[in-house]
Amino acid sequence: MIRLLNLSSFSPFSIFNRTLYHKTWPKEFTYESARALENYWRPQLEESQASYSNNSEIKEKLPKKYVLSMFPYPSGRLHLGHVRVYTLSDVLARYNRMRGFYVIHPIGFDSFGLPAENAAIERNIEPDVWTDSNVDYMRQQLKEMAFSFDWNRELSTCKSSYYKWTQHLFLQLYEKGVAVKKEALVNWDPVDKTVLANEQIDENGKSWRSGALVEKKILKQWFIKSSAYAKSLMDAMDSLSTEDWDKVKNIQKMWIGNCNGCFVDFDLKYEDNNLENSVLSVFTETPQAIYGVSHVNINKHHIIMNNLRTDVQENSRLPCYAIHPFTKQKIPVYLRNDAEFGTLNAQGVPYVDSKLAVPSLNENEKDFASENGLDFKSIIDLSNGKLINSGQFNGQIFSEAFEQATKELLKINHGGFITSDRLNDWCISRQRYWGCPIPLIYCDNCKVVPVPYDQLPVELPKMDKNHKNLKNSTWHHTECPKCKGPAVRETDTMDTFMDSSWYYLRYLDVNNQNEPFDTKKAMKEMPVDIYIGGVEHAMTHLFVSRLICHFLYDQNKLPEKEPFKRFIAMGMVKGETYKTKNGRYVPSDNVIKKDGKFFCKQTDEELSVDFEKMSKSKLNGIDPQYMIQKYGVDFTRLFLLSFVHPKSDRNFLLSSDMINGTLGTLQKLWELVGTADEELNKDGSKKEIFNEQEYKSLKTELYKTRNSQLCMKYPVKYYDESYYKLLVETLIIASPVIPHFTSECWSKLKSHQVYDKLFDRKKIIVDLKWPKVDSDWLVDFNLNVNGKKVLTSKISPNDLEHLNCEKALEIFKSIQNFEQKVKNPIDNFEISLNVKPFLKATLNLNKKSNRSKEMTTETNENDKE
Ligand SMILES: [Zn+2]
Repeated sequence: MIRLLNLSSFSPFSIFNRTLYHKTWPKEFTYESARALENYWRPQLEESQASYSNNSEIKEKLPKKYVLSMFPYPSGRLHLGHVRVYTLSDVLARYNRMRGFYVIHPIGFDSFGLPAENAAIERNIEPDVWTDSNVDYMRQQLKEMAFSFDWNRELSTCKSSYYKWTQHLFLQLYEKGVAVKKEALVNWDPVDKTVLANEQIDENGKSWRSGALVEKKILKQWFIKSSAYAKSLMDAMDSLSTEDWDKVKNIQKMWIGNCNGCFVDFDLKYEDNNLENSVLSVFTETPQAIYGVSHVNINKHHIIMNNLRTDVQENSRLPCYAIHPFTKQKIPVYLRNDAEFGTLNAQGVPYVDSKLAVPSLNENEKDFASENGLDFKSIIDLSNGKLINSGQFNGQIFSEAFEQATKELLKINHGGFITSDRLNDWCISRQRYWGCPIPLIYCDNCKVVPVPYDQLPVELPKMDKNHKNLKNSTWHHTECPKCKGPAVRETDTMDTFMDSSWYYLRYLDVNNQNEPFDTKKAMKEMPVDIYIGGVEHAMTHLFVSRLICHFLYDQNKLPEKEPFKRFIAMGMVKGETYKTKNGRYVPSDNVIKKDGKFFCKQTDEELSVDFEKMSKSKLNGIDPQYMIQKYGVDFTRLFLLSFVHPKSDRNFLLSSDMINGTLGTLQKLWELVGTADEELNKDGSKKEIFNEQEYKSLKTELYKTRNSQLCMKYPVKYYDESYYKLLVETLIIASPVIPHFTSECWSKLKSHQVYDKLFDRKKIIVDLKWPKVDSDWLVDFNLNVNGKKVLTSKISPNDLEHLNCEKALEIFKSIQNFEQKVKNPIDNFEISLNVKPFLKATLNLNKKSNRSKEMTTETNENDKE
């Protein structure tokens, strides 16, 4: 669409005319008019967004609201799930912007990962070429949907301008001992030829991506020590609201486990000098008993068993020993039966593979140590329960010495992080090409040497399929930064979850050339206020993002530990599938419906019908592009947000009822605007705009359209400008969902004089302010005690936003018979506040008791009414 000339210098009214698409207002709104007016308005919406994003005054003066949606993987084109997520995030961004916030609403691309590498091998093109062309296409699609992203902040994780800082972050983790290299039994995907995290394996032991049965393999890998942040991550979950985080919390709590112990890291020496010494990490709930250790037990699953003879019998001593972290004495290591190691995991293997044997605490170990002639000391004075023979812990009550023991271990870098017996460290090494290179160099003299910060980024070398020649390349063979001798680069790349663990921080300062982000900016603009994304990505990604933020918080780089305040877990979009008896999928255009049953057109076989996650193999995808071309952008946006709660899975149907319902909403508004415009055009007849009958029907139509209680008590009067105000406010409220449509409607109305005092007529609709509820309209404010309503007050909906439990309690305390109704002292209650924005509020007092949980549920039921 060619932009119209700006004629504002020629006519005082042209500012209004310029922004109107339809010179003549067609009586009926159709899909054709939708597409035409969308093409007309899109550049203007973009322009409004750009000028908002570039306005530094807004950034400084208004309170911030960070609205974030999970960035897409550039697979080629957007699918309906994406469009559902971004529509919601756009609506929330526009809504908050109209409410007077400085909204941060960025987008980028999570562009490292396997599909690009596989596509590159299949099609013989470079992965970056494939990725860039996908990004270009998807960016175009996102723009076409009029999502109000701040494109100045766009980033792509596969660009060195981004991954330079992922490497920087890795080096910081390495310096602080949170990134460590260790030999590990890893999950190996034999199809994708890569290591997988436990969380990337489904309940059947198959890879989340390739679907292959996962194997075990031993490799030296880089890990992020989740255990270092286990307790911090566990404790901070209390600060996350149950409403948004319930499901995520439950899963993460299960992963993390009960944080009641710590690892003691022993240096491990093999008797065979050919074996490289390593570290033996042993979990214990009683690190304070460390001086009473006679030996260490390991089971046959332990990684070091792969270095030792396989014919060792149970209960025999192994040809290696552990060095006591404090006394430096040699501690023998024994192979013991699984039964000694406690709780089993889902695969029937004990969670722990090693254990401290402390005879003072365990009679069996006492017998075992005596039988095997092992030295041990008694560490508890049985007369007073205090530690003896325990070095720096002597004289402390045994149960109270736990914390000091963990601190002492931390101090000497031999473990000590409070964690559970089941949380695995996060393996980030991937034996794949298309990822962020791990910025480390190996030198025979200096061992592991981090690439100096001023030499970042370590750029990805040119693609060599399957790494065949990478190890001979000049990229791989390099100079040791320390001794300048010959050295080699790490060829593994990082798990892409590392890229996405911090992207929302880079958005805040995307052009910073000196550091990942400016701390001052992060202090001001973090945390993310609303995070929206597919629930299937929620678990791993949210866990590692939290972990990285807890780490950065410790480095004084963030204002809070938790990165995301609210989380909206979008449900999946499922498409209808048709299947034969043999499980073959049949495309919908090959299906015929007879008497409520479905048949294959060709074979006449009856088909089973179901809803499943949309995918190519199931032939049930609906391309958003198809919807946009057929019905228009605003229709698609409105349709995707209608009918089903965003958090619920959606069985996606384009049924004629739903299509007509959605179109009907648009047509009704269109008619109302058209009629109002006609009436306002009638010269001097303002007082007789509507006859009684017309007025009534208009009002009814308006209420129906708005479909909300908001307008129920609005003082609409005959012959009054209130009606016209209400009509535009309705358009404003609808504008975050249907921005093109409402822009056109507003431009139709705003030339009329009646709007001069009501709204800023120079602005397009998305730049207008969100309507305020009339201050004299009050809503119910109830006090419930143990689920029963005992008092009712009134409150202005405008005050609801700033209400908290304390303020709410003050309001009720000022009511005369408060004490009489509540009966018990306030301290006896758990207090919670339930606010339905604009509609009502309830303060709940629930007696602190076992029953309080039931009561809360009851209260919520009552609230549904
Ligand atoms: Zn060196």
